[in-house]
Amino acid sequence: MLQDSYISNQKTLYEVLSVSEDATYDEIRVAYKSAALSTHPDKAQTILKSFESSSEQHGFFGVQEAWEILRHPKSRGEYDKQLQSSRQSIEIIASDIEIDDMTVENSADGVELLYACRCGDYFSITSCELGEMGILVGEDGEIELQAPDSVSTSVVLGCGSCSLKARLVINKT
Ligand SMILES: [Zn+2]
Repeated sequence: MLQDSYISNQKTLYEVLSVSEDATYDEIRVAYKSAALSTHPDKAQTILKSFESSSEQHGFFGVQEAWEILRHPKSRGEYDKQLQSSRQSIEIIASDIEIDDMTVENSADGVELLYACRCGDYFSITSCELGEMGILVGEDGEIELQAPDSVSTSVVLGCGSCSLKARLVINKT
């Protein structure tokens, strides 16, 4: 998934460019230029070589790649979202689940999807909440429609009783 290739244990794109995460476009541009200068031209060959080998193994991001993503508001927004969800997932996520793994219950308010927590309570999300994310779920719990621009998305569900969380991953089918 995108998420796995975008987010790794390596530096964030912001760290690659040594800018803060709320940096403006101009700040990012300046940082990119100075970072690009420092890797050019003599060191470029070595950097490129190490980038190629490490990018395959570790998903390492280079200066150029960071710039290409952060310079566009749209791709930067996508990246920010992924960064955020990867941070949410640190240590608190009990499991990754899919809609197919969940139990469907029909209530007066619509469909509720449940997944058993190890404490005995449930993680749950309603069709209404999914609807706000642009995902329509039928009475049988099948995904009927997704927002056309969503490739894959995930939402973190809290347990009703304990502090565990589950991440519901919704892939575009
Ligand atoms: Zn629980």
